[in-house]
Amino acid sequence: MNFYSLNKKAPNVSFKDAVIKGIAPDKGLYFPESITPLSSSFFENIESLSNTEIAFEAIRQFVYDEIPDDAIKAILKEVLDFEFPLVQIEENIATLELFHGPTMAFKDVGARFMAQCLGHFSKSINNEVTVLVATSGDTGGAVANGFLGVAGVNVVILYPSGKVSDIQERQLTTLGNNITALEVDGTFDDCQKMVKTAFIDTDLLDYMQLTSANSINVARWLPQLFYFLFAYKQVKAEYKEIVFSVPSGNFGNICAGMVAQRLGMPVKHFVASTNVNDTVPEFMRTGTYHPKPSTATISNAMDVGDPSNFIRIRHLFNDDFEALNKNLSSYSFTDFETKEAMKHIKQTSGYIADPHGAVGYLGFKQYQKSHPNTFGIFLETAHPVKFLDVVEETINISPAIPPQIQKVIGKEKKSVKISEYTELKQFLLNQ
Ligand SMILES: *Cc1c(COP(=O)(O)O)cnc(C)c1O
Repeated sequence: MNFYSLNKKAPNVSFKDAVIKGIAPDKGLYFPESITPLSSSFFENIESLSNTEIAFEAIRQFVYDEIPDDAIKAILKEVLDFEFPLVQIEENIATLELFHGPTMAFKDVGARFMAQCLGHFSKSINNEVTVLVATSGDTGGAVANGFLGVAGVNVVILYPSGKVSDIQERQLTTLGNNITALEVDGTFDDCQKMVKTAFIDTDLLDYMQLTSANSINVARWLPQLFYFLFAYKQVKAEYKEIVFSVPSGNFGNICAGMVAQRLGMPVKHFVASTNVNDTVPEFMRTGTYHPKPSTATISNAMDVGDPSNFIRIRHLFNDDFEALNKNLSSYSFTDFETKEAMKHIKQTSGYIADPHGAVGYLGFKQYQKSHPNTFGIFLETAHPVKFLDVVEETINISPAIPPQIQKVIGKEKKSVKISEYTELKQFLLNQ
């Protein structure tokens, strides 16, 4: 399968080149040339398939010809070695738990899949590949874990000093090996700016193969479509009109869900649920896309004022606002509303939601008011223990620390402190 740039001013490339480049030379995001629906028998028999069999059928057309079937099956087996349970919360509402992976973030699947693909491709290219990524928290840990020990790939993670949680910091600074953490004296925006500068710095590009591990990379973005199929497998027998509510920041996850829909999965509607960073809810209300600086919230993995993947969603609908409107609603919620939802969920069902999941719950509730006969699935994108302060303060309960987290708590942090771009550049040139 070939991928083209959404800016349409760069040549089409193979899956391999799209993964290695990350972004097209014209700065456009890569998009698959075609999306061919899966057979109706696939959806009729989905309950009888394992998660890796489902994932194989779904991803095959995108990687075909560049990763042999046996290799892709082996990759998927490794990537999907944990559960994706659907937990019923209320009569017509369930949550799909995406946090059972090694770093307890839903980004584990995309990060591991991309790492395995790059590892596969690095065998056939001479140069090592350097993955450069900026994180405000969860991406760093998932990427560090996913890429640890992958031959031919070095990973450099930039994070804002003092602005990630203790657990998140340990997840990205304690692994060593091919993973280096650069601790930036600045904000997340400063980290992201440095990474963006590096990607257009010809001194670096001539010297090394740089790529990104953010959800703009097709190998991180596309495998997220598996989640929606795994959810469908678990509810299919009972319900017809399924609505997914996705807590959204950069809109990669929800866009992958829409690709699953294009593959033929029956879905009635999508709800993009956000915190007060409401660029998309506003767009869906007014038709005007107006990016803003991000505002800090308790669901901080979604503090995004200019979501990078929304352009892919618009493209899926040929920029036809009416068509998009039929398939997508988007609502934003304040921190106060989020905390009230966490309390309400705990009181009525005993379930402990993290702030991101709670935003997803609220989004479906809002949609359900005008569409009462639907079955809502909201995605739980992080384990509540990763947002311990908020959870403890809101519902007076301390969730038990799972083994994945316990493992990193006593480990020693190793980071390299930098404060400006020239230091990042020097570091990369000396690698
Ligand atoms: C990254 C992240 C999100 C947002 O996902 P997008 O694909 O960027 O929309 C939501 N919740 C958590 C916990 C995350 O880490």
